Amino acid sequence: MKKLIVITGASSGIGKELAIKFSGEGYPLLLLARRVNLIEELKLPNVICKSVDVRDFDAFQTAVNQAQKEYGDVDCLINNAGIMPLDKIYNLDLKTQHDMVDINVKGVLNGMNIVLSKMKENNFGTIINVSSVAGRYTSENRVVYNGTKFAVHAISESARKELAPFNVRVLTIAPALVDTELLSTTVNPDVLEKYHEWKSALEGGLTAKEVSDVIFYAYSLPQNVSLKEIVLSSTKQAI
Ligand code: NDP
Repeated sequence: MKKLIVITGASSGIGKELAIKFSGEGYPLLLLARRVNLIEELKLPNVICKSVDVRDFDAFQTAVNQAQKEYGDVDCLINNAGIMPLDKIYNLDLKTQHDMVDINVKGVLNGMNIVLSKMKENNFGTIINVSSVAGRYTSENRVVYNGTKFAVHAISESARKELAPFNVRVLTIAPALVDTELLSTTVNPDVLEKYHEWKSALEGGLTAKEVSDVIFYAYSLPQNVSLKEIVLSSTKQAI
């Protein structure tokens, strides 16, 4: 049996495609999201599916402990769960802004803290944090989202340096436009209309499968090869 992979946000988009890809390659998986029914419907073998909100450290840790009892230590954690409610900062209520920080940043920290000590002890492991080009460049309607993804970039880069002596890889994935459900938390009709116009002009951007294939490639390199950061977009998207 191959080693255990944990994927957050596995109920749709990039996380769902990652689940299908890693499962197809024979890995046992712990798949997490709040809408666990959508993960269960995939009917993947050697998979534990749990309804876990990444903001809930205890529930996250309990799920990882349970999966480790069955499949051994986590070899790779993919912190993929995220939300992107787009709007001007003065239009977004403070709770939504805090949710973004709690899910996109604290969720990543929760995951890292759950797996780090074992990976250090094992002198082996990979953490893949799904950031965004929004973690490198600011753009309209993304004040808080940019803030969260810049944080993911900085946390990943710094943690990478601290974990290098322990042979633990930390990879940052920074996709541009990907065709997923990410806009589901954006409610302003004007913002939605503009986004969809932009998305159509770019023919939808990358597919979630294309992104998951790139992430799998990065993971599948030998442990001695650390592909530290990947910035990717569809060829027609100039960024
Ligand atoms: P989706 O909306 O399709 O997927 C987001 C996933 O995150 C869902 O499975 C959702 O599951 C999960 N999620 C959201 N909130 C929580 C939570 N509190 N606890 C647990 N899971 C949660 O979007 P994408 O696939 O596009 O998003 C995946 C990642 O990719 C995100 O981090 C996003 O920022 C990043 N990204 C996306 C880009 C794009 O253009 N689509 C571009 C660059 C980066 P559920 O609701 O069931 O909990």
